[in-house]
Amino acid sequence: MVHINQNYLKLKAGYLFPEIGRRVSAFAQAHPEAKIIRMGIGDVTEPLTPAIIAAMHEAVDEMAQRQSFKGYGPEQGYGFLREAVAAHDFQARGVDISADEIFISDGSKCDTGNILDIFGSNNRIAISDPVYPVYVDTNVMAGHTGPADASGRYEGLVYLVGNESNGFVPELPTVPVDLIYLCYPNNPTGTVASRETLARWVQYARDNQALILFDAAYEAFISDPAIPHSIFEIEGAKDVAIEFRSFSKNIGFTGIRCALTVVPRQLMGRGAGGEKVSIHQLWNRRQSTKFNGASYVVQKGAAAAYSPQGRQEMRGLIDFYMNNARLMREELTRAGIRVFGGVNAPYVWLKTPNSLSSWDFFDLLLNKANVVGTPGSGFGAAGEGYFRLSAFNSLANVQEALQRIHSVL
Ligand SMILES: *Cc1c(COP(=O)(O)O)cnc(C)c1O
Repeated sequence: MVHINQNYLKLKAGYLFPEIGRRVSAFAQAHPEAKIIRMGIGDVTEPLTPAIIAAMHEAVDEMAQRQSFKGYGPEQGYGFLREAVAAHDFQARGVDISADEIFISDGSKCDTGNILDIFGSNNRIAISDPVYPVYVDTNVMAGHTGPADASGRYEGLVYLVGNESNGFVPELPTVPVDLIYLCYPNNPTGTVASRETLARWVQYARDNQALILFDAAYEAFISDPAIPHSIFEIEGAKDVAIEFRSFSKNIGFTGIRCALTVVPRQLMGRGAGGEKVSIHQLWNRRQSTKFNGASYVVQKGAAAAYSPQGRQEMRGLIDFYMNNARLMREELTRAGIRVFGGVNAPYVWLKTPNSLSSWDFFDLLLNKANVVGTPGSGFGAAGEGYFRLSAFNSLANVQEALQRIHSVL
């Protein structure tokens, strides 16, 4: 019989969202009349905007004609999209990133997992706690960890704890590490990293010859002009960082699928003999071999987000979700809850009242307010006692959910 990848058997995951689903459907079955409002999952709710729809329709029409039909595209993405990203997301902010340093893909979840293909198995890896679970699980699958302990922490990973005393922005590691995952604006805590914080990380990476994997999936939600949108806004970052961006949350592409990874040409890793090796070349080789490019129609849609109309429509979507986040912050604060995030990110991270555990608070909201959120403990041991609510919802749902939550607290 075939041997399996034994590392998969170490995984604790597949627990959080299935368990939420189990509790919600048990409640719904027992209370068929309850109108449950879901504020748990980080998925957008608003439809595609007109500029994007028009561009995608046009692209389908091109595919329908022999003269303009397209087969396989470049594995790295079409030039029109890479150029638009470089110009608008980076050069316009004074960041020197060129189109050939941008790799278009079908998602940041895939990219943050796939990137491990090009790194060795003996790196020390630092991951925040609480955290987007993909970073942890992909390292477990790749055999970079030992087994998990009772709190769900894997042997071999360096956990960077976020808590109230550091405002859920973890400090630098106290032991040397090689690979560091950072996500700002953060999922699940909704917090952001200041320019000073990011500069400290870049300096740490330069001093320790470490590499930062920077997940900027929520950069478009930043409202504070002092907060960097890209790690490459920090001087010296091009020698020590890879950045992931996604069209999922800013233009509602969670179901359409398009993202990008920035790998600077000058970024180097080390071979077994100590020689310098281009990370850009390795990623290019990896993508050319295992990936056949994102869909032309999808890339046309993503590029339309950079047109003046597309920009304006994207702004409208973000303002809509961030107004929800503002209402959530205000109403929860009025209800006596301590809240984090929700200013530069579409997530509100709250401290459970009366020291309830994350799951006890989940049950309270589900049973009494018929509102579904996400227990903080599902994002890591340090998330225990906290809870995440997502601003991705209709205004009516947000208003009703807040009213119900307030009335049961
Ligand atoms: C939603 C999200 C992404 C985007 O993933 P896609 O695969 O591009 O949809 C990336 N990172 C984090 C932390 C996210 O929450």
